[in-house]
Amino acid sequence: MNPREFVESFERKVLRTIGEYQLLEKKEKVVVGASGGKDSTALLYLLKRHGYDVKALHIDLRLGEWSRKCLANLEQFCKENGIELHVVDAEEKLGIGVPRLMELARSKLGLSCCSVCGVIKRWLLNREAKQLGAEKLATGHNLDDEAETVMMNLLLGNVKANVMVGPKVGIESEVKGFVQRVKPLYFCSGKETELYCELMGLKINREQCPRISSFRLDVRRWLNILERENPGIKLKLVKQIMKWKQELAKHVKSKLVYCKLCGEPSSSEICKTCKLLLACGEIDGK
Ligand code: AMP
Ligand code: ZN
Repeated sequence: MNPREFVESFERKVLRTIGEYQLLEKKEKVVVGASGGKDSTALLYLLKRHGYDVKALHIDLRLGEWSRKCLANLEQFCKENGIELHVVDAEEKLGIGVPRLMELARSKLGLSCCSVCGVIKRWLLNREAKQLGAEKLATGHNLDDEAETVMMNLLLGNVKANVMVGPKVGIESEVKGFVQRVKPLYFCSGKETELYCELMGLKINREQCPRISSFRLDVRRWLNILERENPGIKLKLVKQIMKWKQELAKHVKSKLVYCKLCGEPSSSEICKTCKLLLACGEIDGK
């Protein structure tokens, strides 16, 4: 396949996913969670190029030099491509710096940095996307990310968590205050998005997050070996779990309520972010 053919086939695949799973419409206001890495940058570029109404939303986690590079690249990319960029300082919104929160969550709750980061990013992205009037919140999650997450959930005995699989997230989407999350790169591998960025000359930060958990890295390496020897195995894994989604949903409490403390949609009385802040002594529960 020559470069032009690759770009066309990559874009066709993403647009097909958007159509098949009814992820986005051109008249909708789309906010893209933009990290400055390859996936969300490729997604922003592709959506803009195909006439979607997109804005970029970046959560600044302030994890040292890596965060600074991510933001610098994103600012340059958005400027060059005429995309409105909103930057949210996590520390300002949470009342505590992310590195400190990670430290406390590890010592008090035994949580990994990835778990803390995942929880607060979801919370912040939903709140801020709402503020921006978003009808959809698109993220750059790709097939590699999803296969890793599914496998980690299985290995940790957290099978029910796999109810979140699929390009359209969640089991109950029509909830006031919850911006529907979608993943248009769902069936693209990390290598494909990387090549797309390279061919389109997109400025990205190639460095890995300095706080990535060693368990996720191990699962990633292991799945990559399996994929090399059994091409298509990640897709098979994810598709199989997608088939079980309805079955899993029968065993999961799907009703969303509103968090007593912050008012955000949550599956329990107090949302995961508030639980985290409570346990770390950053807010009181009264
Ligand atoms: P990750 O959780 O780093 O695997 O990222 C998955 C997706 O979440 C990315 O493709 C982005 O769409 C979004 N995302 C990750 N980090 C950020 C961030 N700092 N700000 C905004 N969106 C982000
Ligand atoms: Zn809350």
